[in-house]
Amino acid sequence: MQIFFPKEEAPEIRATILPEVAKKFIDLGFGVTVESGLGDNVFVSDDIYSDAGATICHDKLEGFNSAQIVCKINKPNSDEIQLLKKDTIYISFLDPFNEKQIVSELAAASVSSISMELVPRITRAQKMDALSSQANLAGYAAVIESSRTLSKSFPMMMTAAGTISPARVFVVGVGVAGLQAIATAKRLGARVEAFDTRPVVEEQVKSLGAKFVKIDIGDTEETDQGYAKELTPEQIKMQQEGMKKICSQSDVIITTAQVFGRPAPRIITQDMVEAMQPGSVIVDMAVSTGGNVEGSKNDEYIFHEGVTIIGMSNLPGEVAKDASQVFGSNLFNMIEEFWDKDNKTLSFDLEDEILKGCVITHQGSIVNESVK
Ligand code: NAD
Repeated sequence: MQIFFPKEEAPEIRATILPEVAKKFIDLGFGVTVESGLGDNVFVSDDIYSDAGATICHDKLEGFNSAQIVCKINKPNSDEIQLLKKDTIYISFLDPFNEKQIVSELAAASVSSISMELVPRITRAQKMDALSSQANLAGYAAVIESSRTLSKSFPMMMTAAGTISPARVFVVGVGVAGLQAIATAKRLGARVEAFDTRPVVEEQVKSLGAKFVKIDIGDTEETDQGYAKELTPEQIKMQQEGMKKICSQSDVIITTAQVFGRPAPRIITQDMVEAMQPGSVIVDMAVSTGGNVEGSKNDEYIFHEGVTIIGMSNLPGEVAKDASQVFGSNLFNMIEEFWDKDNKTLSFDLEDEILKGCVITHQGSIVNESVK
C-alpha cells in the first residue's frame, strides 16, 4: 500500500512527517511517497527523506494517483479533493463541524476521510491524539512569544542594583495547552495563576506549583470526552467579574478556553484589557475559533491602550520541527493500529470505537453521527 504526503501550502511551516517516521512506515510494509519540498521549512531536504527510503515526487498529480492513503496536516482544498481517487483513505485535521462544503465534496468523491480532531479521547487512542500533541507545543510557544513581547523579565532577579519582581502570568483555560503554558511560565520563573470552569483541574494546577483562582460560577459540566460544556451568558458574566482584578494585576494573560465544536467563549472584554498596565501582553490561543479576547485578530499583533494582544493562529508552527515529529507519530500510530500485516491491508471496521469517532465520509456518504 502506498501513502502520499503532499506538501502543505504556505503559510504552513510544519511537515506532515519527518524521515524517521517515514522509515517506520516503510519498515511496516508501506511504500511512502513525499512531495518534493515537504520538509523545506523544517530544514529536512528531499535527500534525507530519500535516504530513509521514501520516493520523492515532483508532480502532485502523480503522488495522488499512486496512493491508497493520503495524509496532510491541514484540510484539503477543492483542487486536492478533485485529485483524490475513489476509495482513497484521506487523513488530516478537517474541522468537519465548520467545513460542510469540504465534507460534502469528500463524500461525493467517495473518499474515506478521517478527521484528526475527532479521534476519541480513550486510552487506546491517546497515541493518535494530534489535537493534544499540537496543543501541548502551542502552550509552550504561547508563553515564549509572550516573554519575547513583554518588556520585563519572567524570573525574579536579585541584583546589586535592586530586586526585579517576577512576571505575573494568568492562564485562563487549563486543558492540554493551558497546563503546558503553566509549566513553561513556571520554569521561566513567573508567578502563575490559573482558572478553568472545570473544578477537576485545580489539583493539576497546584501540582505545577501555580495558584488556582476560585470563582463561583454555579454548576459546570464536562462531556464524557473531558471537554467543558458551554457556560450560560450569566455564568460568563460571573466569570468576568471574578477575573477582573487578577487580569488588571497580570503582566501576561494566556487564554486557551475552548468549547468543543462551538465558537470559543468571549471572556476578556475591552474593559478588562484597558484595566491592564501598559506594556502587558495577552496571547489569545483561541483566536482562530472566535477568540477569548475582545479585539484579537488572527495572525495579528493588536496594540490597545498599551496592551499587546497576540493572535497567532499557528502556534505549533513556532516549534515546527517538534510539531511535525509528533504529528507524524500520531498518524503512524493510527495507521499501524488498523494495519493487517499478514494481508497487507487496512481493516476499516466502522464499528471500531476509534474509527466510529473519527471517520467522516466512507463509500459516498457522511457516516459520522456527530457530523451528520
Ligand atoms: P479544550 O482545548 O477543549 O479547552 C481548553 C480548556 O478551556 C479546557 O480545560 C476547558 O475546560 C476550558 N474552558 C472552556 N470554557 C472556559 C471558560 N469559559 N473559562 C475558562 N476555561 C474554559 O480542552 P483540551 O485541552 O482538549 O482538554 C480537555 C480535557 O481533556 C483536559 O482535562 C485534558 O487533560 C483531557 N484530555 C484527555 C485525553 C484522553 O485521552 N483521555 C486526551 C486529551 C485531553
